[in-house]
Amino acid sequence: MDVPNFPGRAARVLIAGGGIGGLCLAQGLRQAGFHDVTVFERDDTPDGRMQGYRLRISPDGEAALRASLPTRVLHLLVATANDRHQGGLEAYDERLTPMPAPSFDDPRGDRPEKIDAVDRGTLRRVLLAGIEDAVRFGKRLTRYETGAGGVVAHFADGTRATGHLLIAADGAHSAVRAQAQPAGNVRDMGVRAVLSRTPRAAAHRAGLPHRLRDRFLNVTASDGLRLALMPMVFRTPPRHAAERLWPGLDLGDGGDYYMSVFSVHQDVLGIDDERFFAMTGTQLRDLVLERTTGWHPDLRGVFAHAEPAETYPLALRATVPVEPWPAGPVVPLGDAVHLMPPTGGVGANTALRDAAGLCAALTAAADGRVPLPEAMAGYQRDMVAYATDAIEMSLRIARWSMKKIDVSATEMSTT
Ligand SMILES: Cc1cc2nc3c(=O)[nH]c(=O)nc-3n(C[C@H](O)[C@H](O)[C@H](O)COP(=O)(O)OP(=O)(O)OC[C@H]3O[C@@H](n4cnc5c(N)ncnc54)[C@H](O)[C@@H]3O)c2cc1C
Repeated sequence: MDVPNFPGRAARVLIAGGGIGGLCLAQGLRQAGFHDVTVFERDDTPDGRMQGYRLRISPDGEAALRASLPTRVLHLLVATANDRHQGGLEAYDERLTPMPAPSFDDPRGDRPEKIDAVDRGTLRRVLLAGIEDAVRFGKRLTRYETGAGGVVAHFADGTRATGHLLIAADGAHSAVRAQAQPAGNVRDMGVRAVLSRTPRAAAHRAGLPHRLRDRFLNVTASDGLRLALMPMVFRTPPRHAAERLWPGLDLGDGGDYYMSVFSVHQDVLGIDDERFFAMTGTQLRDLVLERTTGWHPDLRGVFAHAEPAETYPLALRATVPVEPWPAGPVVPLGDAVHLMPPTGGVGANTALRDAAGLCAALTAAADGRVPLPEAMAGYQRDMVAYATDAIEMSLRIARWSMKKIDVSATEMSTT
């Protein structure tokens, strides 16, 4: 179906999900003059679960942020971005013997204002800056209906909202996708991960040697266990950045840290999902310590000081193939339509790219340059192409980094 009586910039745009893609879209639309945009987020506060890790920002992701955010918000993001430029990936085995590693070209070089990684929680708070009035927390979408009057979104608290468009930015477990694409094309890669965070000072005190500090490390052990270790060093501590650039804004008080992701195939892990996903942060940290007893001691201090409250279990999943959703008032964005494993560091960047692309398409339709159905079809066509590339790249890196494991798309099971 078509979107009835699209009133251009007066359109009521409902965004399900106040994560990275949804908030970036809301910022972009507000800046483009769309004044009736509302984000519905299931979390009760901006500090919902699993905000505590670092995100690599690619050139495409940075371009999308720069296109979407007002200057003042962008300044906050630049001030709180990672200070240690990503540099190349260094690869080792578990005894710290160097191994060949893929190289990533970064055309941005080492520009001082480059945004090449951010803290996820800080990014969310920055993306909320100035649009707080447009975001409703504690609103979990349960279902939607479409009809002649547009789309009606229903929430778990019994309330509803009516709009011309509903954007599905509700992430990996999207309720909108469950209704729009019930057949399901999200596949379980059979890989389980433990994600954790260690304060940078604690890791250094625990003996992380200088040559391994502030680097992007990949360690692949002979049993197939894989570790990715990445630093997050704030250019300016978030609290100080807010005091200087946006007095009164709460950006939290986070300190520098290392993020680590341990990944291993379920067969090697040997723990069923029920037990694995019931583990506490402390139990997961102990599991990592136990499975890495033979590893080089220079690395083990980082795991020993991981923060239990910031240690989570994770299943790696991927959307294969990425497919456009039916034309109409429900439009997909981000993980809801193209979930990918974190190995490529591009899931959020792809969601940001969607947000900038969708904003440009809606703006073109509002300006009368392109009919709305054509603009939406063009957005989905582009999105399917670049998201498919991003997923293939993420799966290639997963195969490279977990050499013992076959994670080919054909062998994954649909969840
Ligand atoms: C360990 C790890 C490391 C990663 N590292 C990187 C990286 O370095 N670079 C990168 O580009 N990507 C990375 N990613 C991927 C990235 O986090 C996601 O691709 C990105 O967050 C997707 O953005 P999104 O807006 O689609 O979804 P999200 O950011 O997940 O936002 C979805 C939002 O919707 C809300 N929501 C969910 N259901 C509902 C509902 N029913 N109603 C209302 N709200 C709802 C959620 O609470 C959430 O706030 C990583 C992922 C993981 C797990």
